[in-house]
Amino acid sequence: MRFATTTIHAGQEPDPQTGAVTPPIYMTSTYSQKAQAEYVYGRGANPTRDALQKSLAALEAGKRALSFSSGMGAITTALTLLKKGDHAIVTDDCYGGVYRIFTRIMSGYGIESTFLDLRDLVDVEDAFRPETKMVWMESPTNPLMKVVDLKELAVISKAHDSISVCDNTFGSPALQNPLGLGVDLVVHSTTKYIGGHADLLGGAIVTDREDLYEKLRFAQNALGAVPSPFDCWLTLRGIKTLAVRMERHCDNAEAMARFLAGHKGVSNVHYPGLPEDPGHRVAKKQMRRFGGMLSFEMRDAAKVVERLRRLEVIVLAESLGGVESLIEHPASMTHSSVPKEQREKQGITEGLVRFSVGLEDAADLQEDLQRALG
Ligand SMILES: *Cc1c(COP(=O)(O)O)cnc(C)c1O
Repeated sequence: MRFATTTIHAGQEPDPQTGAVTPPIYMTSTYSQKAQAEYVYGRGANPTRDALQKSLAALEAGKRALSFSSGMGAITTALTLLKKGDHAIVTDDCYGGVYRIFTRIMSGYGIESTFLDLRDLVDVEDAFRPETKMVWMESPTNPLMKVVDLKELAVISKAHDSISVCDNTFGSPALQNPLGLGVDLVVHSTTKYIGGHADLLGGAIVTDREDLYEKLRFAQNALGAVPSPFDCWLTLRGIKTLAVRMERHCDNAEAMARFLAGHKGVSNVHYPGLPEDPGHRVAKKQMRRFGGMLSFEMRDAAKVVERLRRLEVIVLAESLGGVESLIEHPASMTHSSVPKEQREKQGITEGLVRFSVGLEDAADLQEDLQRALG
């Protein structure tokens, strides 16, 4: 099955008992053990969650998937593969919550991390220690849209007997499938493109490695960051339009990137779809299209938030990947938990704006930006 067909049918076959075309929502905490033994308790398993997990595995062309109550629930569960004394190499331009969990939580359990620009493979090689057990990648990264070579990093990671993980939230399974590039684990915040409608929180881990799957399935139940059956159902509903939505997200983002690149108040646009973008070459190799996320730098950093408040169509809010366009100021919003010094080192300036380009008419988005940015 090709991708668009997979989004509609994988895990979502008609119910064998009733013929219901849409999978039912099994709102139950426990199961009678009289006639069956597959389902015991709702934290361990749920048929609606099973349907979602099947769908998620198929979307990433992977063997196994587990779903969670949020992206951070998935990430926390993945990090339990690490033990006291282990070390992780993490992309420096990572999701703020990932930075927070490594520096504020994992450190307390004796797990060290090094934050690095993973585009420099020599630096990555140098960062390995005998106890390095995980390489944490994102591509494109958040918020600077840096593109890292997933295939190369997976090879390096394997050579050091380390688990490679890619947070594929920004690319979505429609545009990029890291497992096929040799990566061990893919994680998602399904809150974003996969759910796609800004109406749920969810997370996922997908893998081809049976050994890791067994550990993670145990951890899913043991830690308990499981999604509600209703959220699983909503996610399945969103997935059915993922292929169509991503095409439009990409069309609109390409149009906005070109518009912003020609705007006098904008000094720089970060979008791997622009031929002059430093990530363009690698992105072209590993992505089908370039996604719906971009960021840009305003020349006049002092008035950024004031300008963004003038927008009428585009919503000033955190998060991304929904049908509606969202815009935000990383330095004061999503990345405010990253210390200023670290932020500046990474290039998250006061003038930087992150834009999740939605599915509105591109002409309305352009007019809105023109009005607000001047
Ligand atoms: C949102 C996000 C997360 C965290 O997901 P939640 O669903 O908010 O817990 C992790 N990684 C990336 C890249 C994200 O955008």
